[in-house]
Amino acid sequence: MMAPERKILYFKPSEFICIFLCFSTINHIFFQMPLTCKNNFLGITLTNILKQYSGRRQVMLMEDMKISDRIGDYREARFYSSAEGKVRCGLCPHNCQITEGQMGLCRSRVNIQGKLYALSYGNLCAISPDPIEKKPLYHFLPGSQAFSIATAGCNFSCLNCQNHHISQFSPAEITAISLSAEEVVKRCLMAKCNTIAYTYTEPTVFYEYMYDVAMYARQNGIRNVMISNGYINPGPLKKLAPLIDAANIDLKVFDEETYRTLSGGALKPVLNTLRILKDYGVWIEITHLIVPSYSANLDMIKRMCEWLVNNEFSEFPLHFSRFFPNFRLQHIEPTPLTTLKQAWEIAVQTGLHYVYLGNITDETYSHTYCPDCKKLLIKRQGYRVTQMLITDGKCPNCGTTINGVWN
Ligand code: SF4
Repeated sequence: MMAPERKILYFKPSEFICIFLCFSTINHIFFQMPLTCKNNFLGITLTNILKQYSGRRQVMLMEDMKISDRIGDYREARFYSSAEGKVRCGLCPHNCQITEGQMGLCRSRVNIQGKLYALSYGNLCAISPDPIEKKPLYHFLPGSQAFSIATAGCNFSCLNCQNHHISQFSPAEITAISLSAEEVVKRCLMAKCNTIAYTYTEPTVFYEYMYDVAMYARQNGIRNVMISNGYINPGPLKKLAPLIDAANIDLKVFDEETYRTLSGGALKPVLNTLRILKDYGVWIEITHLIVPSYSANLDMIKRMCEWLVNNEFSEFPLHFSRFFPNFRLQHIEPTPLTTLKQAWEIAVQTGLHYVYLGNITDETYSHTYCPDCKKLLIKRQGYRVTQMLITDGKCPNCGTTINGVWN
């Protein structure tokens, strides 16, 4: 059978500007959206046309169809209900109510004719083997490689997001690599990685894809780790948790109002996620980025550490991370080293056994020590493990059990 002929239209720059203005006006009148908004279909089509035009000075209609024309490319989402053309997504605590033709806050789920579709399914925007230490996961198969994947979109809008060029866009806006769940597992095996990491953006918003990949991975003896903001509803999380071996959860700040300002999310659901993952036996590590003027409050850090100890998280590693100016927080100075070291002292004194400092040059704070006899057990240089002395999950010096997944 012959391939369908691709139609290519050529426009002069003046014609193109006229078309652009017409599209924008229609967009504004009929969709009541700001002229620059990317969250509607004409906006997306225009963005793609602009990308095509600026790159090759031609417009390929087949690649610039509206999302609703590409319905066959997308997978129906899980966890939603619909009534009178509107859908309510129940995947994360935003519980977005989405009208026909619109996307949820994460830009990854769209209502087409009363059905919710996952735009992220199989649409990878990033794929790379990484050291597991980069996630960071320090007590989970140290020195191993994690086959890391992501799709565009996120249910948070962090002011300091270091991956905003992929997290704050829809999978429909970003050039993606299309891979089935089976193909991801095949490539992971080819890359000789023993873990798949769902990371870089927010894996919750590619839940259906992550679930299917994780299932195939399990069947092939590969472990699954999730690097997440923890903003997911309990129902979907409990269905996913049995497939997940380890998770690094970002605990952004220990104050509801600041959580909303910094990320657009909330603290309580994240704490709930930590409890559920622990109950399901998932290995957990927690990251807390110390952002001056937002989360660099030592009293608040103390309250966070007390919550972790009181809720039986003292055996799980806590990673304090140094902030560097990024995205909408370019005007804020990097976290002072003294603040990081004070936070480390507070965490250790409160009773957390494994506390690390990340994004700093002093590697002393990235090594693992026995919480009992203080022997140096795992030595790290950047993301490399240069010495590993833990034997059968124990300190070889005093026999204390060192919590983690070591093989
Ligand atoms: S997953 Fe996306 S669409 Fe669903 S509730 Fe969360 S932000 Fe809204």
